[in-house]
This record gives sequence, C-alpha cells and structure tokens, in this order.
Amino acid sequence: MSQSYVIVGDGIAGASAAETLREEEPDADITIITDEGEPLYNRILIKEFAKGKLPEAPISIHDESWYDDRDVDLELDTLVTNIDPEGHTVTAHDGTEYDYDKLLLAIGGTPTQLPVENSDAEGIHHFWTFQDARDIKEHIEGADSSVVIGAGLLGIDLAAITAAQEVEGKYLMRGKAWWRYALSEEGAEIIHEALRERNVEPVFDSGVDHFEVDENDRVTTAVDPNGDRYDADFVGIAIGLNFNTEILGGTDIEYDNGIYTDEFMRTNHDDIFAAGDITEFHDLILGDRAQNGAWGSAKEQGTIAAKNMVDYGSEEFRWVSSYSITHFDFPFLSFGHPTLGDDHVEAKYSDTEWRRLAIKDGKIVGGVLIGDLSPQTKYKKLMREQVDVSGQKEVLVKQDFQLDDLEGAAAEQ
Ligand SMILES: Cc1cc2nc3c(=O)[nH]c(=O)nc-3n(C[C@H](O)[C@H](O)[C@H](O)COP(=O)(O)OP(=O)(O)OC[C@H]3O[C@@H](n4cnc5c(N)ncnc54)[C@H](O)[C@@H]3O)c2cc1C
Repeated sequence: MSQSYVIVGDGIAGASAAETLREEEPDADITIITDEGEPLYNRILIKEFAKGKLPEAPISIHDESWYDDRDVDLELDTLVTNIDPEGHTVTAHDGTEYDYDKLLLAIGGTPTQLPVENSDAEGIHHFWTFQDARDIKEHIEGADSSVVIGAGLLGIDLAAITAAQEVEGKYLMRGKAWWRYALSEEGAEIIHEALRERNVEPVFDSGVDHFEVDENDRVTTAVDPNGDRYDADFVGIAIGLNFNTEILGGTDIEYDNGIYTDEFMRTNHDDIFAAGDITEFHDLILGDRAQNGAWGSAKEQGTIAAKNMVDYGSEEFRWVSSYSITHFDFPFLSFGHPTLGDDHVEAKYSDTEWRRLAIKDGKIVGGVLIGDLSPQTKYKKLMREQVDVSGQKEVLVKQDFQLDDLEGAAAEQ
C-alpha cells in the first residue's frame, strides 16, 4: 500500500519536502496544507517588492500547476487547528480531517506584536507574508514620515524599504547599536552610517512606550520610553517571531520555543517530523539544540526531513546557515550562530570593512562579515569541521586570512 504524507506549511521547508518526497516515492499520497492564500513564494524577495524594485511575478516560486504536475494535493487557505498523533490525523479549521502515515510540521513563525498601547492601530505593520509586503508597499508609497522598531535582520529590511521609498525615517533601537548581540558598536556604526546616508536616522537607547492615534485610529506618533516623540504615519515593527507551536497544545510532541527534533528532523514521535524555522533541532556542529531562521537552512531541513520520513536515519542535517543583506553599497553576511559563544574576535579594516567571529570552547560558532565576504568559505569550513582555533584569534582576523596561517592541527584540516 502507498504511504500517505501530510505536510503542514507551504513555505520553503514544506515545499522542498514535498518535492523530495515525490522524487523518493513516486506512488505516495502527498498533501500540503497552508493557511496562506497562495502557493510558495520567495519570502526573502518580498522586501524588494515592498521597496518598489521588483514586480510580483518573479517572487512567486510555484503556481498551482506545479503541485498538479507532481500529483501533490495543495490545500490553500486552510488552517490546521488540531493534531492527533495517536489517531494519525490533523484537523483543519473547517473540520476537515486529513489522515497521515507520516506528518511534517513546517509551520514557521508569526511576528511578535509589540505589547504597548495602540500597537494594533492602522498604519502599524508587521512583516512576514507576501500580503504584508503588499500592504506595506501600498502604505509607504504615500507616507511622509516613518518609524521602524526592531534592531535585527528583519527590522533593517523595513528601514531599507522606507529608505528606498524615500520616506524620511527614524529607526528606534534599544541600546547603542544595531543587532547588538552580534555586532559591536564599531561594526554596527558602518550600518548606522549607511542608514543615515539614506535618510534613516538611528535613535539609540530608545524603543516605544506607546503610540498615539488620530480619531480614525490611525497612528500619528511613536513615543519612546524617554518621552521623546516621533511623528510617523507609517510604522514597521520587527521585534522577533512567535513560533507557531499553539497547535501542539494537547499533544505530547516536545517543544519549547520551537519543536524539538533530532538531527534527522524527527520529533519524539516516530511518525512526526518538523523542518524549517519552527525546529529546535539537535545541531551536530554545536553539540546542542539550535534554531535557525534562514531560507537556505529551512530548504535543506525540508529536504532532509523528507528523506528521513521515507528512510529514517538515511541523512543527517549538518549545516552552517548564512544570511546576507544587500541593501547597501557594501555586502553583509552573517553565518552560523553569531550571537552565541563565550569569546569573540573582531577587526575593522576600513570604513566599510569589518569582521567578527563568535567562538565557543575554542571553536568558531558563527560570525559577521561586512564589506569583504571572501573569507566566508574558510570560516564556515573551520566551523563545520569544528576546528580548535584556541590561541589563534588574531590570526583568524588577518585581512587576507588563509587556512594555512593556522598552526598545528588546525592548519592540517
Ligand atoms: C521579510 C523577510 C526577509 C527575509 N530575508 C531573508 C534573507 O535575506 N535571507 C535568509 O536566509 N532568510 C530570510 N528570511 C527568513 C526566511 O524567509 C525564513 O527563514 C524561511 O522562509 C523559513 O521558511 P519555513 O518554511 O521554515 O517557514 P515559513 O516560510 O514561515 O512557512 C511556514 C508556513 O506555514 C504556514 N502555517 C503555519 N501554521 C499553520 C497551520 N496551523 N496551518 C496551516 N498553515 C500553517 C504559514 O502561514 C507559512 O506559510 C526573511 C524573512 C522575511 C519575512
């Protein structure tokens, strides 16, 4: 009898899994369920659409015929509300039940709301879906002033959108630096300067205490905890993701911030797997649980999960994640887990060139490169192979660093 596979989530993790499952099992029944109204699109390009730099068409990855051609049932606008691991079924909001032999949860996250007064007012945007990008584009094109909150990788996309749409803006940050857990003030200053050049003013030791609204419940002003007031008819918030774990309530599937999986993307249930942003997977490189929030990692996890759903133990997930930013004249790349580690080393080479490596137990666990990305392959190799670089921190950040520069065992890797 053919196996039946149900995948919840048609983001890059779920869609990659469907593709691999079909390749591996030509006769299987495959269903993919998504609460979005459109099939897979390129989430990392929706910012370019909101900037006005790309039309809609190239952002779409699959149309419905892609699923038809592969005999994959696609259920759009369908929210899964319940999972029954013992009965091997999932139930949708309209009561429809889907039976499975193997289930994949590729359900990602939802932007965290800012818990302050009026944060649900008109004109305040969060950013995750293509529909969010359409709403943002429509609004920002007619806006006069903007405020962005959230000094991380998604917040800077919102700031870059306001800049590209030539709307003067304030970027309110806690602390004194953008992405302060991964960059020092010296490194972040390169980003701050690039923002200022684009008419976005970083405001430090700030944030939002509450928003003021007009009689139509439209946002007018962001007031920060110091009492400073910033006019804004457009507000963008990106303070993190809440992972979509609520449907696990009532099951004994193990999760915390995300769903726990082993390195084969299997949960504590033999027939239930998870992939993408939603997973807290066993990271073979870190030797610990980790969560990635990057397109390439989610794609790979979807593929690996599918292979292990067909043949458990056939391929493990061993991956150095990376994430690049292309808003400025200089390139930016973060890799691995740049906010972790018990030690670090950094160096600045010019006004637009800087590097920082995060180190844990003598091994590289992540880093940030600004300006010159050429050493990324070497650093990722050292990380992937868990090379001990103890005592050689300064060598690592030589501007033209080569693997041969490392002494002893490290250099032989
Ligand atoms: C604006 C933006 C820019 C980004 N830029 C980059 C970048 O430059 N580089 C990079 O590497 N990464 C980037 N990312 C992150 C990257 O897009 C994500 O890491 C990746 O898309 C995660 O894929 P996923 O399949 O795990 O989850 P998602 O893409 O979040 O997909 C999960 C899907 O599951 C659906 N779902 C959830 N719960 C249910 C349910 N109960 N029933 C039915 N459906 C459900 C959701 O609606 C969603 O469609 C960016 C993200 C955003 C939003």
